[in-house]
Amino acid sequence: MDVLADAFNRFEQSQISISFSGAEDVVLIEMAYQLLGNRVPVFCLDTGRLHPETYRYIDQVRKHYGISIDMLSPDPANLEQLVREKGLFSFYQDGHHECCAIRKIQPLTKKLCHLDAWITGQRRDQNVTRTELPQEQEDRAFSTPRHPITKFNPLASWTSPDVWRYIQTNGVPYNPLHDQGFSSIGCEPCTRSISRFQPERAGRWWWEDEKDKECGLHAQNIDAQPVRVIEKHTQA
Ligand code: SF4
Repeated sequence: MDVLADAFNRFEQSQISISFSGAEDVVLIEMAYQLLGNRVPVFCLDTGRLHPETYRYIDQVRKHYGISIDMLSPDPANLEQLVREKGLFSFYQDGHHECCAIRKIQPLTKKLCHLDAWITGQRRDQNVTRTELPQEQEDRAFSTPRHPITKFNPLASWTSPDVWRYIQTNGVPYNPLHDQGFSSIGCEPCTRSISRFQPERAGRWWWEDEKDKECGLHAQNIDAQPVRVIEKHTQA
């Protein structure tokens, strides 16, 4: 809560937003709602491939808090070109980065052009790529020399039980897929349920290596170099 309050104090509300993935980072929305009421700035990357349960859940959260959620869609021309050339499931052969670049990174890049800071629900205990995660960092993936961007991770030191205790104690709505063994929830074709003995993000891109399980939104967790958004599909 202190990290959130500090973030909203330092950045104008039009310049900062919470990234809501339709999973348990709704905790951030609940906390921000306690600080700002329904003026909480929230955006969500609508990849077009989320589970039906996730879309319904996002709308449930919108109504529950009476907030607006900025749904960010991929560029239609870029998406059409990818699907025309490679089909709808190219990530199983080529890896997830190309599809994620179009469905997630490009819309996020556009959004962050208009923000000075964003807030994520990342935690250190989620994956080997996040063990060093700070509560606040310069976003080296999306900052430019003329436009520095700050990323806040208020839940960095929380554990999964902390999150679920908060959700239950505060009556926070959560994605019903969590009750079906889905721990970390992303796009439908790239997420599967896991057993309680597996790492939290084991169900994400399960055909790929653990150390590669970042989609570029948090590329600096695995590589300090800026994200290379695929420009091949980008129109001027
Ligand atoms: S998670 Fe899968 S479907 Fe979603 S954008 Fe990435 S590769 Fe595409």
